[in-house]
Amino acid sequence: MKKHYDWLIVGAGYTGAIIAERLATQAGKTALVIDRRDHIAGNAYDRRNDAGVLYHQYGPHIFHTNSHAVADYLSAFTEWLPYEHRVLGMVDGRIIPIPFNLTSLEILFPKAEAERLAKILIEAYGIDQKVPILKMRENPVQGVRDLADFIYKNVFYGYTTKQWGLEPEQLSPSVTARVPVHISYDDRYFQDSFQNMPKEGYTKMFERILAQQGVSVSLNTDLADLGSEVSYDRLLYTGAIDEYFDYVLGELPYRSLDFNFQTYRQQRHQAVGQVNYPVSHDFTRITEMGHLTQEWSDVTTVAIEYPVAHVPGKTIPYYPIPRDENQELHNRYVALAEKDAANVLFAGRLGDYRYYNMDQAVGRALALFNKSIVA
Ligand code: FAD
Ligand code: UDP
Repeated sequence: MKKHYDWLIVGAGYTGAIIAERLATQAGKTALVIDRRDHIAGNAYDRRNDAGVLYHQYGPHIFHTNSHAVADYLSAFTEWLPYEHRVLGMVDGRIIPIPFNLTSLEILFPKAEAERLAKILIEAYGIDQKVPILKMRENPVQGVRDLADFIYKNVFYGYTTKQWGLEPEQLSPSVTARVPVHISYDDRYFQDSFQNMPKEGYTKMFERILAQQGVSVSLNTDLADLGSEVSYDRLLYTGAIDEYFDYVLGELPYRSLDFNFQTYRQQRHQAVGQVNYPVSHDFTRITEMGHLTQEWSDVTTVAIEYPVAHVPGKTIPYYPIPRDENQELHNRYVALAEKDAANVLFAGRLGDYRYYNMDQAVGRALALFNKSIVA
């Protein structure tokens, strides 16, 4: 028998799960959430491996936000474990804090030189300021530019070309500005007011978000394979917008990753959650799950990340690639989508083709619901 839903939601990640929850609890609507994967939670999915270690299957996910609304919303579905992410980088055979900060200077340069460089930076920008590397390279003071060139070469250039297959200048400046030089001794990767990990993991949190009367979930279900036994009034699509339109305007570029998970017979493998390798090796970073989840056992699991080219249908489109020409193509897809906006909405990291962090995906879903769905 044909089953009817008010909404069909494609994708059980943050965007899809939250809109489904809102529709059911705030608007009394029914929603079928489908995902082609065999699990909920999208790229935030976590699970235990054979060694019993809770790990993030699609790469390390650290939750941080300055939005009270986002933190409050998720707090209805999880308790939290305080966690401040710290990252080290292997540069010139030495281990330095990333983002590059005043401690990084002191590790890499002799004391007097480090003091001189710190003084130049503080004179140029003031203490406790964050400066994107591409901006610092344009500073009128030669000494600042020289230091910026050093940081660019040792921290940004190699990492970025590995991660994106492009040089920093070929990307939107917002990409490298995510990790600005920090004129401070604060060695936290994020300075957001809310930095916590879901106490029982992301997947458990998603189970609770989706456990609403009126919400049904169908896994291993691709939109393309959805049979005629399902009917619905409106559709929310959180997958790749170019795929939805059958690439009619051309392929939007994405970057993919290969994860090499290794489990070692030791309690901890590295000093902090993440170690970056900006210059050496083919991988960009190694993340140790136990630091993030704060679990301890006799074994520990790390994820070694190898960026790779994305091949539609073969690899996972993990990252939209932020640059003007891609944005222009995306705008053309948005114009196409607007023609049928009464029936089909697009949102999420892939639907919007935006480099959203988790809190931004949550914020976007809540705003979409309030402005375009219930309004
Ligand atoms: P997704 O989680 O991608 O969900 C979309 C879902 O749609 C997928 O499950 C997919 O299978 C499904 N789907 C797509 N097309 C179809 C179809 N045709 N039929 C059926 N199902 C379909 N954010 C942070 O805040 N902190 C971090 O530390 C962090 N680390 C990250 C690390 C990596 C490697 C990556 C890739 C992202 C990271 N993020 C992080 C970002 C975070 O993953 C996203 O913001 C968030 O998952 C976006 O949620 P979403 O619902 O938009 O998309
Ligand atoms: N980046 C870099 N060196 C580093 C860390 C980051 O060059 O040691 C640049 C790189 O271009 C990267 C971007 O900053 O893609 C954003 O880094 P972030 O850690 O936010 O990336 P994500 O966790 O989203 O992969």
